[in-house]
Amino acid sequence: MPTDISHFIDGRLNAGRGSRTAPVFNPATGEQTGSVALGGADEVREAVAAAKKAFPEWAGTTPLRRARILNRFLHILEERVDELAAVITSEHGKVLSDAKGEIQRGMEVVEFATAAPQLLKGEFTENVGTRVDSYSLRQPLGIVAGITPFNFPVMVPMWMFPVALACGNCFILKPSERDPSASLLIAAWLKEAGLPAGVFNVVHGDKEAVDAILHHPDISAVSFVGSTPIARYIYETAARTGKRCQALGGAKNHMVIMPDADMDQAVDALMGAAYGSAGERCMAISVAVPVGEKTANTLIEKLEPRIRALKIGPGTDPDAEMGPLVTKQHLERVRGLIDAGVTEGAKLVVDGRNFRMQGYENGFFIGGSLFDHVTPGMTIHAREIFGPVLSVARADSYEAAARMINEHEFGNGTAIFTRDGDAAREFAHRIQVGMVGINVPIPVPMAFHSFGGWKASLFGDHHMHGPEGVRFYTRLKTITSRWPTGIREGAEFVMPTMG
Ligand code: NAD
Repeated sequence: MPTDISHFIDGRLNAGRGSRTAPVFNPATGEQTGSVALGGADEVREAVAAAKKAFPEWAGTTPLRRARILNRFLHILEERVDELAAVITSEHGKVLSDAKGEIQRGMEVVEFATAAPQLLKGEFTENVGTRVDSYSLRQPLGIVAGITPFNFPVMVPMWMFPVALACGNCFILKPSERDPSASLLIAAWLKEAGLPAGVFNVVHGDKEAVDAILHHPDISAVSFVGSTPIARYIYETAARTGKRCQALGGAKNHMVIMPDADMDQAVDALMGAAYGSAGERCMAISVAVPVGEKTANTLIEKLEPRIRALKIGPGTDPDAEMGPLVTKQHLERVRGLIDAGVTEGAKLVVDGRNFRMQGYENGFFIGGSLFDHVTPGMTIHAREIFGPVLSVARADSYEAAARMINEHEFGNGTAIFTRDGDAAREFAHRIQVGMVGINVPIPVPMAFHSFGGWKASLFGDHHMHGPEGVRFYTRLKTITSRWPTGIREGAEFVMPTMG
C-alpha cells in the first residue's frame, strides 16, 4: 500500500482538505510507494494563517536564539544523515553517496545561517550631520515561500529556508511532488530542534498550490528553483502580485577543454559532471567543447570506454555510480531527445537508450550516452536534456568555444580546463555565465558565497544563500536621529542638508 504523504502546517501533519493526490514512485523498481496530497488555496491559507500567528514572536526572537535553534537542527542532521539520504534515494533514485553529498551541501547553508547575529549586523555612522547619527537595519520580510524542484529535494530547500529563518521570517515550502517525503523529515527535525509551530510549514502540491502562493497577499517573497518556463512564469506573476522574487531556471553547461589541458583530469571531471546523479543536476556538464581536432579526437577516444563501463544500479547499491531517472515520463523524454539528436545528424557514439537493469526491469534506468559533432542549432544543444547524455561540440579556437557559450540562451555554470593562466583569466572575465570553474567542473559556490546563473537561468536580482540570501530575505531600514541638543531652533522649510 502506498504511504499517504501529508502537509505540515502549524507544527503538525495535516492531511489537507482536498482529495487530489499524486503518485510517488521508487525510480529503481518503478513501484508506487507513496501518494502525496496536492494542496491548493485552502492549505496555503491555513499555512499562511499559522505563519502569521507565529511571525511577531519569531521576528522578535534574538538572532542569537534563532541561531541556536539552527545549530541544534544541524546536529540532528549530522546524526541522521543516513536516514535522510535513504529517503532521498527511495524517491529520487540517486545513489546514496550522492544523496549524502547533497545533504552536506545543504548543511553548509545551515552552518552559514547560524552566523545570524553577525550576518544581521547593521551599519552606523556617527555625525552624518552635527550631532546627527544615522544607522541602518535589516528586518525580516514576514512570510516567505520556497518552491523547489525534484532534483535536490534537500539541498535546494536548504539554499532558502535556513537563511530565511535566521533573518526572522516564517517559511512555507512547496516541495516537488515527485519526491516530497524528505521535506517532512526536515519539518519534524526543525520542530525537534525547538522551532516554534507555524515558523516552517510544508504545503505539497502542483500548479494549484503554486498559484495560491503567488496570489496570497500576505506572502511577501517567493524563491523558486526549477525549469526556465516555470521560473519565468513565477517571476512575472510575482511581479504582478507585488512580491519580491528570485526564480532560478534551467541550464546547459559547457566545459571548454583547451589543447594544453591534462586530458586524464578533464575526462575524470567530465565523467562525474555529466553522469553523476544521471545528469539530473542544474550544474551538470552537458556539453564538452574541445578546442582543436586533436583535443577532440583524444577526448572521444578516452571517454567512450569510460561511458560504456559506467556502473549503473539502484541508488542503494554501494558500487553504483549512477542510478535511474526520476520518473517514467522523464525517461521517455530523455530517450526522445536522443532520438532527435540522431535525426538531426549528430553522431551517437554511445547509445544508452536500450539499457535494461537486470532484476530491475520496471525501473526508470537508461545508460550513459555520448554524442559527437553536435552543433549549435541542434535540439540537443539548445535544450536541457537533464539526463546522462554528454554532447561533444568541437570548436576550432578558443574564441569559437567562448562564442558558443555566450550565445547560448542559458548561463548557469561553465568550466574551462587548461594550464594556461592567461586563457583561464580571460575566460573568467568575459564569459556570460553566473558560475565559472577553472579546472573545476561543477563550480557550485560554497554556502558563504552566493549561487545563481545569468540569462534564462535566473530571473530576479538576487542569487541564493550567502550574502545575497541575507539581502533577499531582509528589508533595509535607515534611521536618522538627533536628540534635543542637536536640534536647531525654528522651523526649517528648505530641503534638509547636513553640515
Ligand atoms: P519544474 O519546473 O517542473 O518544477 C519545479 C517546481 O515548480 C515544482 O515544485 C513543481 O511542482 C512546480 N511546477 C511545475 N509545473 C508548474 C506550473 N505549470 N505552474 C506552477 N508551478 C509548477 O522543475 P523540475 O523538473 O522539478 O526540476 C528540474 C529543473 O530544475 C531543471 O530545469 C533544472 O535545471 C532546474 N534546476 C535549476 C537549478 C538552478 O540552480 N538554476 C537548480 C536545480 C534545478
